[in-house]
Amino acid sequence: MHSLPLADLDALFLDAGNTLVGMDPALVCDRLAAHGIAAEPAEVERAEAGARPALSRLLARGRSSEDRDTFVFHIRNAIAALPAVGAGGVGDAAREAELDRIAHAVAHELKDAGTRRLWSRVLPGVPQALASLHAAGVKLAVVSNSDGTIEAGMAAVGLRDHLDAVFDSRVVGFEKPDARIFIAALEKIGTRPERTAHLGDLHAVDVLGARGAGVHGVLVDPFDDWRDDPCPRTRSTAELARALLDARAARR
Ligand SMILES: [Mg+2]
Repeated sequence: MHSLPLADLDALFLDAGNTLVGMDPALVCDRLAAHGIAAEPAEVERAEAGARPALSRLLARGRSSEDRDTFVFHIRNAIAALPAVGAGGVGDAAREAELDRIAHAVAHELKDAGTRRLWSRVLPGVPQALASLHAAGVKLAVVSNSDGTIEAGMAAVGLRDHLDAVFDSRVVGFEKPDARIFIAALEKIGTRPERTAHLGDLHAVDVLGARGAGVHGVLVDPFDDWRDDPCPRTRSTAELARALLDARAARR
């Protein structure tokens, strides 16, 4: 994270999905099992993270992250990477059609469970990370592409009290990577872009979007899937919080 002025950051913006909260593994495994796919939560976690670069490339071409088709695309790539599914032969049309069918069904069933239920798993160390950053005087705001439910969702999982503000694309009217959602957050929080970083899990949306507003973009990359994308990376929100607080302590 050499290009990130950690000790000088006054504010940290945070994506929600896969940065603060993850998909409920029990719900995902249950829906997969209903379609004949046996998978452990850790396998789902690995496969989903590995599918993010392809999702980022799709979003870079202008597709909205809030379209159901976008979610189907992502879930299909994650399912295809599961050990129980494995690699088929190139051009295996029957397997491809079956994967399409299952991905479509699973993605729609997950969406139909509701955003709050689906994204209900608080990622490890997140409450402590937010609490310690907040106590150290770092301004914290969620900047999320969502459906208008993210503020209530943050409250439901106990994270809202650690945040100075929540910016939901449906409410603000602009979706990441549009710089205007970040500019709205900068104005409300009252911080300068060069003293603000945004942490998220999709390069095209989170890193490039933040940069468009002059904010430092940092990628959550738990499994080193993004080594080819030149930007500051961290394994988790908890790891970035520790690095930021350590840098501040070293400065003193
Ligand atoms: Mg995300």
